[in-house]
Amino acid sequence: MSTLQVIEPSKAKVMAEIPRAGAEEVDAAVARAKAAFPGWRAVSPGDRAALLRRLADALEDALEDLARLEARNAGKPIGDARGEMGMVVETYRYYAGAPERLLGHTIPVAGGVDMTFREPLGVVGLIVPWNFPLVITSWKCAPALAAGNTIVLKPAELTPLTALELERIALEAGIPEGVLNVVVGPGSVCGSRLVEHPDVAKIAFTGSTEVGCGIAAAAAGTIKRVTLELGGKSANIVFADADLEAAAASAPGAVFGNSGQDCCARSRILVERPAMDDFMAALERAVTAIKVGDPLEESTGMGPLISAGRLEAVGSFVPDDAPVAIRGAAPSGPDNPGYWFPPTVLAPMSNDDRASREEIFGPVACVIPFDGEEEALRIANDTIYGLSGSIWTRDGARALRATRALETGVISVNSNSSVRVSTPFGGFKQSGVGRELGPDALDHYTDVKNVFVATD
Ligand code: NAP
Ligand code: MG
Repeated sequence: MSTLQVIEPSKAKVMAEIPRAGAEEVDAAVARAKAAFPGWRAVSPGDRAALLRRLADALEDALEDLARLEARNAGKPIGDARGEMGMVVETYRYYAGAPERLLGHTIPVAGGVDMTFREPLGVVGLIVPWNFPLVITSWKCAPALAAGNTIVLKPAELTPLTALELERIALEAGIPEGVLNVVVGPGSVCGSRLVEHPDVAKIAFTGSTEVGCGIAAAAAGTIKRVTLELGGKSANIVFADADLEAAAASAPGAVFGNSGQDCCARSRILVERPAMDDFMAALERAVTAIKVGDPLEESTGMGPLISAGRLEAVGSFVPDDAPVAIRGAAPSGPDNPGYWFPPTVLAPMSNDDRASREEIFGPVACVIPFDGEEEALRIANDTIYGLSGSIWTRDGARALRATRALETGVISVNSNSSVRVSTPFGGFKQSGVGRELGPDALDHYTDVKNVFVATD
């Protein structure tokens, strides 16, 4: 095997060297998962639940170490990383409740008894990005294991370290050998081998819409089940009757969180014209208060971007003549070699501008003015994406009307939150197929079997 150098983006320095797998290692991992499947599906629902709870406890014991590792490798503030590890633990605990609740139906029919069962799929392939490595892994791993599947997990090459820890911790917690297998290698080699592999029943993918497109096409060759969590260009709609201070205080976190490398980033801030000046003044106070710096420093609010490539891509959205209305501070100069980019607000923007149309995946927000509800909804829906979004208003009827009219999988009113363990998460339009979290996710890790028994 060749070697993979794992980079710490706040220092632009190698933090670990690990073996780098190829297609052969994927085949071996699939074979291990296939061999482990009959045993794992036969574990009683109560015992499977107990093992998931033990895994959650073991991850909780390791929470601080995992948070520090993720903070360094993904360049995220340590406080955020702790929050993410908390959600990881919560996700395994939540799905520990599932094995004993995977209910079927009995259906009245003529001549006998009819019933349905929720059967595991077999070996499932999980392909995960670098922005929320262990959290997104848990959204897939926990329901997959709960439903009785075995797993081959391919983390992103940029951030493989917590996935390797998960593999070790799962074994120690008693998850049987072969049930959870991690393969670290390039997406173009290891990811695509997993997608084409005839012994893999399903691919659960989170990443870019471009790669997701290729995965959906390649998976068709073996009629694999596919769920896709893809990109976004979500709208944060602020009506003039809203609590503008609250909306402006919350807006920076909703687009600059994780340095803007968040599929849920509300990167188009739509502001009703009469509120524009007051909102921008409050937004400026909030943005310039963000402390950008060392991810391990407790007071840090935003870290670096993940890579030099991302830095260049994000920079292309802010050319010299861009209408920069607000720019925060970020480390710079030869003493700060990390991949730093300041939180940046472009205003006023049109929804037709490139920065308003493409997913930037960096700390750049576009403020787009609008006149009235109809125009707000038209602009918000004028995108190929449909992942998240928010509406800020004190008018309850308008809030309900607008939430129904928006073409998006997740929407919040007077809040910018997107994700809870117990509620479904996923995209409309080109933001994806299927749902993660909540009870809905289990549908995507099981097939329905119908059984008829003649009694007459
Ligand atoms: P990406 O380039 O699509 O990569 C995602 C994963 O797919 C990585 O593990 C990557 O491996 C692998 N991969 C790359 N090419 C592949 C191929 N041909 N076949 C199979 N697997 C392949 O995305 P990213 O740049 O890491 O992440 C950013 C994107 O993810 C954004 O568009 C963001 O919106 C999206 N995202 C969506 C959600 C959501 O829940 N909707 C959440 C987070 C992120 P390597 O990188 O190791 O090569
Ligand atoms: Mg990529």
